[in-house]
Amino acid sequence: MARPRALSGIQPTADSFHLGNYLGAVRQWVGMQETHDAFYFIADLHALTVHPSPAEVRRRTRVAAAQLFGAGIDPERSTLFVQSHVREHAELAWMLMCETGMGEAGRMTQYKDKVARLGESAAGVGLFAYPMMMAADILLYQTDQVPVGADQKQHLEITRDLAQRFNSRYGPTFTVPEPYIVKEVEKIADLQDPLAKMSKTSSGPQGLLEVLEEPGPLRKKIMRAVTDTGSEVVADPENKPGVTNLLRIQSVLTGTPVPELEARYAGQGYGTFKKDVAEVVTDTFAPIRERVVKLLADEAELDKLLAIGSARAAAIARETMASARENRGLLPKV
Ligand code: ATP
Ligand code: MG
Repeated sequence: MARPRALSGIQPTADSFHLGNYLGAVRQWVGMQETHDAFYFIADLHALTVHPSPAEVRRRTRVAAAQLFGAGIDPERSTLFVQSHVREHAELAWMLMCETGMGEAGRMTQYKDKVARLGESAAGVGLFAYPMMMAADILLYQTDQVPVGADQKQHLEITRDLAQRFNSRYGPTFTVPEPYIVKEVEKIADLQDPLAKMSKTSSGPQGLLEVLEEPGPLRKKIMRAVTDTGSEVVADPENKPGVTNLLRIQSVLTGTPVPELEARYAGQGYGTFKKDVAEVVTDTFAPIRERVVKLLADEAELDKLLAIGSARAAAIARETMASARENRGLLPKV
């Protein structure tokens, strides 16, 4: 039986990924190479919605690619590409925008949150149209499963709605995708604000654990992470969101169930526990950082790997786009 197709993307909106990206997305991507027909991309077009400079876009796109390869994405087993290299993303996004209601798009909570943060004047049409481009990203590849964090649930729902709507209005064109969300890591929290998700663009530096950061600062931030009243190391998402976040991180990175960790730290207070969390996080990131430095030393080679991925991706995108155009009634160019 053919493997299900997985597809997911990450925005080059910062100079490093963070622990939430790593646990909620990239780590799943690496694992899915064994079981899925895997497609991953760097969402440079999406990153334009928050107005980076041209130099930032260029640098961060390469740094993102290096982190993905460095974390274990294997160009032999996965197709890793740059979104803007496959022109069909923008083309299908437009067609899907024409099928989306204003009210429907206006209900997206990520849009509302970003407008609240950036201010009305900085929030452009691109930010509003983001979910329709995300739908295009997914539908172009006839994707079965989309590994993402919990923050993308709503965007996955609108993607499914748009696929079903297009299929029923114009004939079968797209596979309707399913989200693939791993409960324990669906929302890694900001260290300083354990009710908010860790985010490249909205977390402050003290709340973020960056993959490319040195062990010293990482350790310090974990030691200073907001913990909750009391001194017991127990998971309690309602009353102890800070400690619960750290427990989840340590549990996933060491493969130890949370109750076992609770028993291990009983009566020891937060200090020892945080030191151990810092150790597993720094041990996880150090080898990735080393590989990233090597990969970035040869930009030509990195760009070549991305070109191979983009060519493979474009072949599939072209096919889907051809049937979307035909079904929608766009005249073929003769
Ligand atoms: P930005 O602030 O620019 O939106 P981000 O940190 O949200 O950056 P994205 O590039 O938007 O990162 O998302 C990449 C992937 O990482 C998505 O699948 C998203 O769901 C996942 N992700 C992002 N933050 C977290 C988090 N804190 N916990 C778990 N998964 C996350
Ligand atoms: Mg995001």
